[in-house]
Amino acid sequence: MQAVLYREHGDRSVIDYGEYPDPAPGDDEVLVDVKATAMNHLDVWTRGGLPGLDLELPHVPGSDMSGEVLEVGDRVTRFEPGDRVALAAGVWCGECEFCRHGEYAMCVDFEIIGEHSQGVQSEHAAIPEANLVPVPEGVAWETAAAVPLVFQTAWRMLINRAELREGETVLVLGASGGVGHAAVQIAANAGAEVFATASTEEKLQYARELGADVTIDYTEVDFAEAVRERTDGRGVDVVLDHIAGETWDKSLRSLRKGGRLVTCGATGGFRPETHVNRIFGNQLRIIGSTMANPGEVDDVLSLVWDGTFQPRIRAVLPMSEAPRAHEMLEEREGFGKVVLVPDSEYDG
Ligand SMILES: [Zn+2]
Repeated sequence: MQAVLYREHGDRSVIDYGEYPDPAPGDDEVLVDVKATAMNHLDVWTRGGLPGLDLELPHVPGSDMSGEVLEVGDRVTRFEPGDRVALAAGVWCGECEFCRHGEYAMCVDFEIIGEHSQGVQSEHAAIPEANLVPVPEGVAWETAAAVPLVFQTAWRMLINRAELREGETVLVLGASGGVGHAAVQIAANAGAEVFATASTEEKLQYARELGADVTIDYTEVDFAEAVRERTDGRGVDVVLDHIAGETWDKSLRSLRKGGRLVTCGATGGFRPETHVNRIFGNQLRIIGSTMANPGEVDDVLSLVWDGTFQPRIRAVLPMSEAPRAHEMLEEREGFGKVVLVPDSEYDG
C-alpha cells in the first residue's frame, strides 16, 4: 500500500509518499480502509523529532482518521466489515493505578497512535478495537477525520480539567487553530462568555461565527490588557493556552484572582518565562491536560455527529502533497483542519 512516511527526522524534505507493507490485523484489531486523515501539530513535532521519543523508522505519521472496516480480528466484537469508523488515538494500559480509577488519559504508559507508534496516513491501517468509534451515516469522511483529536482535547481541557461553568468568562488563544476552533464552540455551548484571540480580521470574524463574544487581534494589542479592559480590570475565569512561548505571561496576566489556566501544548515554545509571584499572589491554578478518556471522546463526538459542533476544513489534499500540508501548519496559513486523503481516494 501507499503511505506517508519518513526514514529520518528533519525538515519537510524528509516526507515521502511511497510503498509500505500492508498491515495485518491482530486478534484485537480492525483493518480499516482509510478514507480521510487529518493533520495535527503533533505530526510536525514528531517529524522533527521529540526529546525522549525513539521511533522505529521509517515512521508513518497521523493520529486522526476515518474509514470503512475491511476485516476484524477474532476477538473483535464491536465492529464488522462495512462499518464506518473514526480513530480515537489515545492508547492506555488498563492496569496502572490511573487506569484502575478510570483516568485513562493519565495512564503511566499513555501513548498516541501516530506519535509513539505507526500512524494512519496510509491507504490501510490496523487499529486496536478500543481505539475506534462508530461514525453515523451522513457524516462526511473529512468531518469524521478532522474532529477526534482536537475536539476531545478541547473538551477535556474545558469541561473536565478546568471545570468551566455556565456564566464564566473564558479566553481561548489561537481561536482559528485546530484546538482553538473546537474550544470556542465548546465554551460557547457550555454557556460561557468567550473571549478569543487571532491574528487577522478574517480569523476573528470566523471566531465570532463559532460563538466568540469578544475577539482580540493579538498582533495589534496586548491581549492581556484588552481582556482587563473588557472585564473592568477583573480578568477572565479561565484561559485556554495551547501556544505558551510568548503568550504564557500574558495568559497569566489575563486571569482573575484564583483563575485557572489550562494548557495542552506549546506551539510557541516549551520554556516560557514565568513570574511565579503572579501565580501565588493571584492564587492561580495551572492545569495540564492531554487527549481524553474514552467516555469524554464519546460525549464530544456525539455533539459533532448531531451538528452542534462543526470542524472547519482548511484544505483537502492528496497524501502525496503531505509536505505542503506540513507547510500550511508551520506557516500558520489559513485556519481550521488540513485533511489528507490517500491519492487513490482523492477526487480533487
Ligand atoms: Zn494505565
